Amino acid sequence: MSDLTMVRTLEELTAARGDGSVALVPTMGALHDGHIQLLKHARPLADTLVASIFVNPTQFGPGEDFEEYPRTFDADLERCAEAGVDVVFAPTVEAMYPAGLDSTVMVDPGPLGSILEGAVRPGHFRGVLTVVAKLFGLVRPDVAVFGEKDYQQLVLIRQMAQALCLGVDVQGCPTVRDADGLALSSRNAYLSAEEREQATALSRALRAGAAAAADGPDAVLAAARHVVDDVRIDLDYLTLTDPDLGEPAPGRDTRLLVAARVGKPRLIDNIGLTLGSGTP
Ligand code: AMP
Repeated sequence: MSDLTMVRTLEELTAARGDGSVALVPTMGALHDGHIQLLKHARPLADTLVASIFVNPTQFGPGEDFEEYPRTFDADLERCAEAGVDVVFAPTVEAMYPAGLDSTVMVDPGPLGSILEGAVRPGHFRGVLTVVAKLFGLVRPDVAVFGEKDYQQLVLIRQMAQALCLGVDVQGCPTVRDADGLALSSRNAYLSAEEREQATALSRALRAGAAAAADGPDAVLAAARHVVDDVRIDLDYLTLTDPDLGEPAPGRDTRLLVAARVGKPRLIDNIGLTLGSGTP
């Protein structure tokens, strides 16, 4: 177990981060094994491991769950200590947005910010990229680790780091799942027992799609759709892209992404596959 320091201000953070190399794992707390995997991946990458815990208001739309978002701070600190975190940075909203939420400079995610999740949640990625850019500026990490579970977010953060020359190595980690295939998410806590059962349709659809990959894109989408059509979930999208969210191409790495509302919560998931041409 490490000696964990919890800091809330930039001054405390600057003192705690030291002069060595730094790895950062940004989170919104309510930590589960998916977050812990990111921390374990990041631990050997730098002298100092910083985890941030901040429920970022600017990435929640009106009517979304900012107020109800699960907050389990004491348990989070314990899990961070167990995972070898040196510094937990848990700033206040005022410290992160001193000019207020409406009058702050924001990062424009570009066209990829308004497809898929961005189409359903307008402004979401603007909020995500803004808070991540601020965290990069405050923590000044050499490397930062994000989950493939939020695949579009990972792609956009990579693009931002490159486009804005932030000098941060952005690394991704595979999705951690429960035994029944459901991707771990802090929002799974909102699911009733029946909804949780229905929610497994997302990962089952992805696996069915991946199993049909050799037969080409139409077969992948048909196999995946067959699974989600069978359950009572409200599908937002089920789509294939290339690894950078562009058009998929036969014989290349491809991403199958799904999002659906299951009861109240909205869940997302994705899987990597290699498409065949679909021609015999
Ligand atoms: P969040 O606290 O939901 O903002 O997530 C913080 C980080 O954990 C993000 O980089 C997520 O992609 C990552 N993450 C969330 N759930 C999982 C999971 N099941 N497996 C791997 N990474 C995850």
